[in-house]
Amino acid sequence: MASVRRLHLFDLDGTLIRGSAAAVEISRQLGLSAEIAELESHFFSRGMAPDEFAVQARALWADLTMEQVSAAFDGAPWLAGIREVWADIRSQGDYCAVISLSPDFFVRRLLDWGAHAAHGSRWPVPPFTEPVDRAGILNPAAKVEIANRLCAEFGVSLDDCVAYGDSMSDAEIFAAVPWAVAVNADHHLSGLATHTYSGSDLREAYELVCPAR
Ligand SMILES: [Mg+2]
Repeated sequence: MASVRRLHLFDLDGTLIRGSAAAVEISRQLGLSAEIAELESHFFSRGMAPDEFAVQARALWADLTMEQVSAAFDGAPWLAGIREVWADIRSQGDYCAVISLSPDFFVRRLLDWGAHAAHGSRWPVPPFTEPVDRAGILNPAAKVEIANRLCAEFGVSLDDCVAYGDSMSDAEIFAAVPWAVAVNADHHLSGLATHTYSGSDLREAYELVCPAR
């Protein structure tokens, strides 16, 4: 009898990207690091909603080009071993997906690294000619809705999922699955995790839940 297939769900900002975020890396390319830091402080400490953050980031990034998005992606401080972990997940017959609140024009690039699915907030494509549609911007609760959709798509149950995250925006998904790996997370989220990892290599975090066979 075939063993049960698992779905591994990865957060992006702070998890696959260590100590940074897509918005920070994009802003760095535009020379707007101070401006995005200010915006992020409103988001993390002062309760700014994800859709308001997106509208203000869109205004900040008015002249963003896809070349700058590529440079932001290529220069981001990614954990080591992401492609290797996803290749191993695939070789086991399991599934891997990224669910992030960050812009889909950034997140979807991870399909090229081997993710079965990569969901981000729905943004216009740079160079921008349209405003952000607030309805397309994800919030933490949407992560669980997307996880449910992916489970249906891949024929697995939430009881067969592993979540990897770093912040309280992952609290809902951590509560919904049996295995939750806090990656370079603060103690608020670590307290909700079944496993905790600090470091710069995703293979080591993956090994906690999937010991080498
Ligand atoms: Mg995160």
